[in-house]
Amino acid sequence: MNDSPIPLKEYLMNKSGHFGPYGGRYIPELLIPLMEELEAGFDEAIQDENFLKDLKNLYNHYSGRPTPLYYCENLTKKLGGAKIYLKNEGLNHTGAHKINHCLGQILLAKRLGKTRIIAETGAGQHGLASATVAAKFGMKCTVYMGAKDYARQRPNVFWMERMGAEVIPVHTGGQILRDAINEALRDLITNPTDSHFLHGTVCGPSPYPKINTYFQKIIGEEVRNQLMEQEGKLPDYLVACVGGGSNAIGLFYDFVDDLKVRMIGVEAGGKKIENTAGKFEHAARFQHPEVGVVEGFKSYFLQDEHGQVGDTKSISAGLDYSGVGPQHAYLHDTGRVKYTYALDKEVISAYELLCKTEGIIPAMESTHALVEVIKLAPTLSKDKVIVFNLSGRGDKDLFITTQHLDKENFNQFLKTFK
Ligand SMILES: *Cc1c(COP(=O)(O)O)cnc(C)c1O
Repeated sequence: MNDSPIPLKEYLMNKSGHFGPYGGRYIPELLIPLMEELEAGFDEAIQDENFLKDLKNLYNHYSGRPTPLYYCENLTKKLGGAKIYLKNEGLNHTGAHKINHCLGQILLAKRLGKTRIIAETGAGQHGLASATVAAKFGMKCTVYMGAKDYARQRPNVFWMERMGAEVIPVHTGGQILRDAINEALRDLITNPTDSHFLHGTVCGPSPYPKINTYFQKIIGEEVRNQLMEQEGKLPDYLVACVGGGSNAIGLFYDFVDDLKVRMIGVEAGGKKIENTAGKFEHAARFQHPEVGVVEGFKSYFLQDEHGQVGDTKSISAGLDYSGVGPQHAYLHDTGRVKYTYALDKEVISAYELLCKTEGIIPAMESTHALVEVIKLAPTLSKDKVIVFNLSGRGDKDLFITTQHLDKENFNQFLKTFK
């Protein structure tokens, strides 16, 4: 299963930044010394007790860790099979797991003497978490956003600006995330000494996949202890949604060498998995696995027949991305993790089910994992345990969920502000 020469845990954070054929550092010459500085700083920091103490303090007292591992008793009864637990990352400060790697990276930036944060964002969630930690650490923060995203994500732009970030709409290219990433890298090349590029997931050039895996692995480590306390055993299944892959690797990482623990990653199936006229109506990279080198790393990307990176579609902004982290590409090929998908319509009904049975409103991204749990639990015996990652809470999706579940009333309500 694992053809790496060392245990999988070590391999997924190895020094070379390659995971089988994936990963690497495909970037302009000028950025290489910066990535080397970052990696050396990181390797040193995680050996430093004071750094680890500061990180733990921030996790505990700023973000609110450990987050609960909650037994979904009602949902378990309703589905009539395996016991279902959810890891509630939605109770973190800012409402999702993204704060874990933002806190880690800003501590690292401070240690390296940086005074400014550069971030890119699509839907705004990563920009928001970056603006949050920049405010807390008194650093300047510039967030690049495709002009289209800038217009349609006004609430997040508003919050970022309240926390002192400068949000810059990017008018080049398709005016979306890809173009924002290009602008952010251009900024970094221009300001290499004072700025840290805060990467939002386990993608990008080495060492970002390793660094963000390190800062997210707290999720699985807590699950191990919490489940041992509550059930006296390891989980039988772990399930998480996969956008870039950070919340999934955060849940999986601590268990990758426990081969009895099965793992499932869930991608965005969008409207449907078949393509219409060469256009993707989903973001399920593992359903059309094509290897490419994009945005500085080698992995699977959704590409059309000409090798152009395709536009993706999903009800959840956080999963609406054409690439996936290189460690996931490796975990896919080795078979250690199975990857499946959930359709938008399945996500909406799973969302309603969790709200009504447990009183928990899940993020659209996390609900993809829940769809798989709803399919899986009834096929397993009652002594089995499934843990799924509730990567975020659902408040942020108000403008999407209302359009599916309460369109007329909500749009009438919006008009009252005119
Ligand atoms: C951003 C986001 C995701 C997707 O990113 P990953 O790197 O795949 O974890 C998932 N869930 C929530 C709530 C998010 O905000």
